[in-house]
Amino acid sequence: MNVLLLGPQGSGKGTQAKRIAGEYGLAYVGTGDIMRAAVARDGDLGGHLRPYLDSGTLVPDELTVALIRDRLDDEDSTPGFVLDGFPRTMAQADALDALLRELDRTLDIVFELQVSKEVSLERLLKRAREEGRSDDTPDVIETRLATYHRETAPLAEHYRAQGILVGIHGERTINEVFAEIQQALEQVSVRR
Ligand code: ADP
Repeated sequence: MNVLLLGPQGSGKGTQAKRIAGEYGLAYVGTGDIMRAAVARDGDLGGHLRPYLDSGTLVPDELTVALIRDRLDDEDSTPGFVLDGFPRTMAQADALDALLRELDRTLDIVFELQVSKEVSLERLLKRAREEGRSDDTPDVIETRLATYHRETAPLAEHYRAQGILVGIHGERTINEVFAEIQQALEQVSVRR
């Protein structure tokens, strides 16, 4: 089973993605984590990525797609994956479709975690106070949210057209959101 999550920063997407992966034995593929790990390893790639992460702008598609391709190749033998943070642009969505065809895999379901701009901003500012992630400053948060709404939110239509989009109301507790996700996943496994 291959699952994709869409949703703005602060929607709880990462939390739910990791939980789905844990519960169903799927590989968690979080682009933010992959990028931050590359920066931490330093070297040329890390140095190249860092300015994008620090400013909250998107890493160029070509580089992002190459990183994801490597990772999905690695996960070839697992029963499936949960993608979090990729694709974020229409070009990345097209690249993912092509990559999946190459790997002879398909996406089974795409969740869109829906939260208002106010709630996601509020949650991010709270996380900034508590965790101090370097890209959680008010300016950079604003850039990331604006990029999401401009570049990524339109991808919901792409997956709606494929008949695999499920909208989830995200302004509820983590357990309530997860329960709804589980119901949808069980329907997928029944259909398969
Ligand atoms: P958030 O979704 O809260 O912005 P992430 O941890 O998912 O945080 O991503 C952190 C940063 O990594 C982004 O601001 C961006 O610079 C880079 N990044 C992550 N995923 C992608 C992607 N699919 N395409 C381009 N850049 C990405």
